[in-house]
Parts: sequence; C-alpha cells; structure tokens
Amino acid sequence: MIISVTMNPSVDISYPLENFKLDTVNRVTNTTKTAGGKGLNVARVLQQAGANVLASGMIGGHLGEFIQSELENNKISHDFFTINGQTRNCIAILHEGKQTEILEKGPIISESEEERFLSYFAHLITQADILSFSGSLPAGLPEDYYEKMISLCNKQHKPVVLDSSGTSLQKVLASKAKPLLIKPNIEELAALLGKSIENDSESLKHVLTNPLFNGVEWIVVSMGADGAFVKHFNTFYQVTIPQIDVTNPVGSGDATVAGLTQALEMQQSDEEILKHGNVLGMLNAQEKRTGHVNMQNYSALIKRVQVKEV
Ligand code: ADP
Repeated sequence: MIISVTMNPSVDISYPLENFKLDTVNRVTNTTKTAGGKGLNVARVLQQAGANVLASGMIGGHLGEFIQSELENNKISHDFFTINGQTRNCIAILHEGKQTEILEKGPIISESEEERFLSYFAHLITQADILSFSGSLPAGLPEDYYEKMISLCNKQHKPVVLDSSGTSLQKVLASKAKPLLIKPNIEELAALLGKSIENDSESLKHVLTNPLFNGVEWIVVSMGADGAFVKHFNTFYQVTIPQIDVTNPVGSGDATVAGLTQALEMQQSDEEILKHGNVLGMLNAQEKRTGHVNMQNYSALIKRVQVKEV
C-alpha cells in the first residue's frame, strides 16, 4: 500500500468571474469546492491509476470533515490525525484569463500535537510499502519535522518520496534522514541552490552532483512541457515527451509524484518508473480538474515518451 501524506491540506475554492471588480461586490455562480493540497492530488491520481492508496496527514474542524467526505465520495481510504485547529481554505479567483489566489496559512499545530502525531505516524506506517509526502508543513511544526518523519520511515525500512520545497526540503537534505526520491521542478531546484539553472544536460548533471544531494537515490527534475532530467545513483536520464494539448497543468507535478511512487512500489525498471511518472503528469495537464487523469489516453501517450541515458 502507498500512504500519501498531506500535512497542511485545504479546501480549494474556485470562483470564476468574467470581470473581477475591486472594492465592490462580485457575485459568483459556478463555485467549486474540492479537497485540496498536493498530497490529496497524489492520492486521487493514485486511486485513478489503480493503486492501493491511503491518504493521511493532519486535519481539523468542519473543513477537515468536508475533505474526508470528499475522499469517501472518491472511494479513497483515509486515516488522518485530528488536530484542534481548523483546516484552511484556499481561494482561486479566475478572472480575465488570470488567477488571483488567496491562501490561508492554516492551523497552528501545538507542541502536544507535534509529539502525538509522531507516535500515531510510527504506527500508521507499518501498513505501507512506500510513502509520499507532499507540500508545506503547517505553522507550529519545527522546520525539521519531515526529517523526523523520514527517520521513523527509515527505521522501518519504508521508502519515502518527498515533494516539498524551501526550508523543509533543505533541512531534510542536510540531515541523515534520506528520502528515496525528490522531485523538484526547475524553479524549486534553483531556489534550493540559490542560483539560476540552465536546463541543458551538462549543466544539470553538474548541478545534481552537488554534495547537497548525497544519499538521495533518485532526483527527478520535472520540466513541464520539456519532460524531466533525472539522476538515479550515478546514472543520468533525459525524459523527452511529445507535444500535447494542455488544458490545465496545475497539479501535474503531483500526478508525476503519484506515478513515480506507484512504479517504485511495483519495483519497475528505471525506464518504466520515469515513463509512468511523466505520462500521469501529462494526463493531468490534459484535464480541467487538478489531480484528475483519464487513463484511457494512457497507452497512446506512453508509446511517445522516451527515456535516454545521457
Ligand atoms: P510541477 O507541477 O511540480 O511544476 P511540472 O510542471 O514539471 O511539475 O510537471 C510535471 C510533469 O507533468 C512534467 O515532467 C511533464 O511530464 C508533465 N507536464 C507538465 N506540464 C506539461 C505540459 N505543458 N505539456 C506536457 N506535459 C506536461
């Protein structure tokens, strides 16, 4: 089983408006409210791709209940740790071809919740073959909290796919607790190294041999329409993907994480792992709804993805 962890989930609200008027009333008819957060996208894609997945993380209040009922509607198993605070709303206003976002920071986790979650988590992971952790940490948790969670997984020999950025990722990379795979996109990689990154293979090879990444078996740098550049141990791969009609690429990285995790669980070859991850990312980009893939288009796409050792 795969456990997909979202530490700071949200209810994502979308308000489509023809014209967004400031300092007055805007009335919306087609509101959508969905269970959001990167790890929940991962869980949704895994479920659609036929994996056995459990969604977990921290959740609280009536929005937390809404998320759990949405997961049940989608037939996704879940086991969340309940916190005192309220799970957040994240609002996207879609207007004049633009997207204005209002993102609540979310609940503040208490010290007692911080401690109790780790015991709950140590018990939960006994069921997993592999885990994925996605997104930011909620306020109140120390920046090295992913490191603590990965240490618990390492003790039980459970591999972790980590898709986070900023300080929480930096702390993990600087620690002894190593994830099996990380999936930064180019911007996240540049932020991590504090410099701009050229996306030719020689520069990427050089960047990925930075000692910062020592001990991380897989580094998958996703590059949107340009596919991905990958380091697995000391082998480098360029993943080339076909041009496709894109409807909404938001969440493609999460779909890629889902695909990589599923193929890793199935102990597939490097080529299969990378093809599966990229195809799920592309399938997400072809759909309107974030974290959705139409598996009927899978076999046509996978034939057109190339993985080349470079
Ligand atoms: P993130 O959402 O984390 O920024 P990317 O945008 O790199 O991640 O997308 C992850 C993967 O999804 C890519 O490696 C690619 O396979 C696929 N993908 C994303 N955007 C596109 C696109 N515009 N065209 C084709 N494939 C895409």
